[in-house]
Amino acid sequence: MSDKGSGIRSENGEEGGLDPLSGIAGPVVTRFAPSPTGLLHLGSAYAALFAHDQARRHGGRFLLRIEDIDLTRCRPEFEQGMIEDLQWLGLEWDGPVMRQSERLPVYDEFLHVLEEGGLTYPCFCTRTEIQAEIAAAPTAPHGPDGPLYPGTCKNLDWREARARIEAGEPYATRLHMDRAAEMTDPLTFTDIARGVINVDAGSCGDIVLGRKDVPTSYHLSVTIDDAFQFVNLVTRGEDLLHATHVHRTLLALLGLPEPLYHHHPVLLDPDGKRFAKRDKSVTIGGLRAAGHTPEEVRAMAGFS
Ligand code: GLU
Repeated sequence: MSDKGSGIRSENGEEGGLDPLSGIAGPVVTRFAPSPTGLLHLGSAYAALFAHDQARRHGGRFLLRIEDIDLTRCRPEFEQGMIEDLQWLGLEWDGPVMRQSERLPVYDEFLHVLEEGGLTYPCFCTRTEIQAEIAAAPTAPHGPDGPLYPGTCKNLDWREARARIEAGEPYATRLHMDRAAEMTDPLTFTDIARGVINVDAGSCGDIVLGRKDVPTSYHLSVTIDDAFQFVNLVTRGEDLLHATHVHRTLLALLGLPEPLYHHHPVLLDPDGKRFAKRDKSVTIGGLRAAGHTPEEVRAMAGFS
């Protein structure tokens, strides 16, 4: 599974002969950005090894960022366990570990920029209301993660929205994707394995930028942090390819620099299923307890 680094493909799928990273000014900077909601398993170890390998192969920097904004699901013991497992696997990161939970004011500032630009709206819907609305719609538009938010709160009268906020009703902040696309279209991003991709921001719908419980979201914080940390090669599983359409749009709206992307295959178990954090036989801790060496575990993840 280890990536040998392919050339950038042109739109007709042919490999270019150029060094795919030649467009990067300065040293390559990659990162591994796990959410500590469980233990490191072979699938996530593969993502970490991939990012580390890309940085080291190009004499660059490899960063570790803990994406712990989900206060209900992230736990310090998972973070500690992940860090120990990464060290045991022999991965070394450059500089201190960044924690997103310590950066909420930064995300808030950027959220304000989008709000001031008229690119957001408050959404008071509960999960149940959204599901009911989708079920009642004759045709509900679908995105990569299932049905898209049906836009219930998009056209709320602003006086009503303000009154509900002032009355203390919890709300999420959503991106007004039609407006965002209007302002940024046409946009592209470059994936080392796929070539130049046209951004289809609308495919993900009006995503959440600020959650009800925490004033940011995965999409907003990952976009800001990759730019803030000068990450110029974002590597992650191809299951997140659709999210890059959103991130590229946010980068353009916020005037932040665009990295190169490499969405790699997701490592699957022999049955073709994704590894689960709760299955001890494939967690790094479980494999370690079963007597495997770091070399063996790296080889299981395709990095010998
Ligand atoms: N924190 C995300 C996750 O654990 C990964 C973010 C990314 O690589 O963009 O799925």
